[in-house]
Amino acid sequence: MTAKERFLNYVKYDTTSDDGSLTCPSTASQLFLLGALKEELISLGVDAKMDENGYVYAKIPSNVGEKSKVCFIAHVDTSPAVSGKDVNPTLIDYQGGDIVLANGLKITEKETPDLKKYVGKELIVTDGNTLLGADDKAGVAEIMTAVETLVNNPEIKHGDVFIAFTPDEEIGRGTDKFNLKEFGADFGYTIDGGAIGEIEYENFNAASLNLTVNGVSIHPGSAKNVMKNAVDLFCEFHSLLPETMRPNATEGYEGFYMADEVSGGIESLNAKYIIRNHDKQKFESMKKYVLDSVEFLNKKHGENTFNVEIKDSYFNMSEIIKDNFHLIDNAKFAMQSVGIEPVIIPIRGGTDGARLSYEGLPCPNLSTGGYNFHGRREFIPSFALEKMVEVILKLVEVYSKI
Ligand SMILES: [Zn+2]
Repeated sequence: MTAKERFLNYVKYDTTSDDGSLTCPSTASQLFLLGALKEELISLGVDAKMDENGYVYAKIPSNVGEKSKVCFIAHVDTSPAVSGKDVNPTLIDYQGGDIVLANGLKITEKETPDLKKYVGKELIVTDGNTLLGADDKAGVAEIMTAVETLVNNPEIKHGDVFIAFTPDEEIGRGTDKFNLKEFGADFGYTIDGGAIGEIEYENFNAASLNLTVNGVSIHPGSAKNVMKNAVDLFCEFHSLLPETMRPNATEGYEGFYMADEVSGGIESLNAKYIIRNHDKQKFESMKKYVLDSVEFLNKKHGENTFNVEIKDSYFNMSEIIKDNFHLIDNAKFAMQSVGIEPVIIPIRGGTDGARLSYEGLPCPNLSTGGYNFHGRREFIPSFALEKMVEVILKLVEVYSKI
């Protein structure tokens, strides 16, 4: 079966995750696809199992003795941002210009300039009512097809190859229950990126900030010199964070503060922020700046007017990858040897691989080939699915010798 055929099948499963749910997987529907993937692996003759949290693990034993143990990981859930139910994948023969989806929605050349690279190619798009789910079912299909190629062609040399399909990546819990101890791989790759050729190993350092502002309420008519309006005080704090360090003002390696949620009134107010920066030192100084600002404001307005709590969420995996740089060099080599131009880009977010890297499984992220993730304009060129299978197989070959 081709990766495209697999992909068209997998997107039919509704695997939307739900961050309001406390279960794992967050939605029971993910188990249908995870269960089907386990069965598919077994039917290919691969030793696979699904644990009580829905994680599917598999291993293809080495046929060249003791070599590097490489893994490939993809997630089955899709973003709750847009419906992933009743996905209707549509194949189009792209001839240039804007694409009009079945419901009238357009994928424009202006918003997706890369479209011009795909003139004359087949694209898989949606009907405009749902996301497509290339994030990350394309990764799942590419890995599964590489597995099939390996088991059907025993003459291909490979070390131990490990596979994992995980739930709930889109709600930040993809690695929460990942059983690294039992998994057994030395390092590997998540196949969860965008345009073909992307190699990602630099992500944000990330922290969340919880700010409480305590005010004093009194009837506004007799408020003079008594009222401390938490809303005003919050605005004062917020204005200390530079406007140039907001998500809408930053790109590339520029970090930001983002007010995420604000609630409250005169008497008390709570604000949640996120802090992001690729550079560890800058990240630390951004956090310190918040603490200093709060100290300054408390001096001005009274002790405990402002309380702040800052929690680290995840760190830039480049710290770990720089000691395992063969992963990047070999990914570049694998792409070049199948005719793809590798592009290294910083991730303005986190990945499952970032967490895994810090837990002992160095794991940069490779492209799936897809575009416009988490939206109704999501699409993937069919050839990219097959090309990524070749990339995975090339990596397997490389690590069969090391
Ligand atoms: Zn993803």
